[in-house]
Amino acid sequence: MSLPASDLTKQPDQRTTMDLGAVLPCTAEVRDDHLFIGGVDMVELAREQGTALYVFDEADLVGRMEAYRDAFRSRYENSDVIYASKAFLNKEVVRLAEREGLCLDVSGGGELACAQSVGFPAERVFVHGNNKTPQELEEAISAGVGRIIVDSRIELARVSEIAGRLGVTQDIYMRITPGVEADTHEYIRTGCEDSKFGFTMLEDFAYKCVTDVLAAPNVRLAGLHCHIGSQIFALHSFREAAQVMVEFMARIRDGYGYLIEELDLGGGLGIAYTADHEPSSIDDFAEVTCAAVRDFCGEHDLPLPRLLVEPGRSLVANAGVTLYTVGILKTLPGIRKYVAVDGGMSDNIRTALYHAEYEPVIANKAGQPRTEIVTLCGKHCESGDAVVIDMPLQHPDLGDIVCVFGTGAYNMTMASNYNGQPRPAVVFVRDGQARVVTRRETYNDLYARDI
Ligand SMILES: *Cc1c(COP(=O)(O)O)cnc(C)c1O
Repeated sequence: MSLPASDLTKQPDQRTTMDLGAVLPCTAEVRDDHLFIGGVDMVELAREQGTALYVFDEADLVGRMEAYRDAFRSRYENSDVIYASKAFLNKEVVRLAEREGLCLDVSGGGELACAQSVGFPAERVFVHGNNKTPQELEEAISAGVGRIIVDSRIELARVSEIAGRLGVTQDIYMRITPGVEADTHEYIRTGCEDSKFGFTMLEDFAYKCVTDVLAAPNVRLAGLHCHIGSQIFALHSFREAAQVMVEFMARIRDGYGYLIEELDLGGGLGIAYTADHEPSSIDDFAEVTCAAVRDFCGEHDLPLPRLLVEPGRSLVANAGVTLYTVGILKTLPGIRKYVAVDGGMSDNIRTALYHAEYEPVIANKAGQPRTEIVTLCGKHCESGDAVVIDMPLQHPDLGDIVCVFGTGAYNMTMASNYNGQPRPAVVFVRDGQARVVTRRETYNDLYARDI
């Protein structure tokens, strides 16, 4: 896919870095025209570590984990926050989640292996996926994971058989497709009726399947799960999902005489990718979901279940930025201005995939106004390869260090080696210190698997 045609009437916004609002990580500041995050000069860091480089503001990351935990615990005592690790995963972020008392979502054996490698408590691991392989299920059950979120009847039979073979009873959730149309991009909408995920409610299928779940040996139905999509701004979607789920719990009680003890409402809270985005706060999200579960349980005279939520993006996206070096400048008159950076779709596939928006600044001109409209293109052999399409930027020169904000979620974990590009290092910054938590890939790493 190529780039969408440029809107040539778009005017630069004259903003400087500190005008970019909610896209900034919490410790971002400008000193002597340089961007600092975590007290570290991003220009110096880029020169020391090379680019492309993923940088995370550790105070921001930990602050959001605490904010989530406290927002829920203060409103709803029997609640837990599960970090959806597919958003950004390495050993250090798992260690942080463990220290902050979070649980962990994994969507397969590879993510589970990361959790195990740092001794994350297995009972706090939740296993997702619409097609976990029998091997992955066996790995998860023998590791002693807390919950397996069962996505289909075929999978129910597999989990039951494997748990029986291993001589254990596995706690499971049923993933329900609640039929709620979340207000977000269609590619990241998952709760509507046409979805590969979960038990559909069409023709009352999910309800009828409860018979099989309750009859299956070696599993215990501990709870229900739904996840209606991602980058959701309208909080009423979460209230609607909670309503559908609590009504379903009431039907299971009435029809099967079985009390569902846990309710997992998934993730999906939206974040600011541009300075004009005004996402709901973590507190507002907690307020709406906790109140919804209370209200609907009250209506149906149900005891309050343990409540779980699974944020990914809203925990990590704004804590992370990507640094690049400007390598080539090309102005196509009447078309657009290209600023080519030393990365692209290999470290950020979201822009090429669905024209995601991001805010860029030049880290060594961070105090200056953004006076041009540019497209930050990558170095890859695809015309759709871009990181930022038609956004304001300070006047670019060769060798400038560009910082793209809000790249902490679904960038590093979706990175590829296209064109033989080694994947960037990940650096955590805090209190003036930078530490590499994932080293840059080497050329040797690229071909280490080849025979
Ligand atoms: C992706 C995913 C999440 C996290 O979604 P975000 O939009 O990143 O918060 C949570 N739960 C499940 C099942 C998911 O697939």
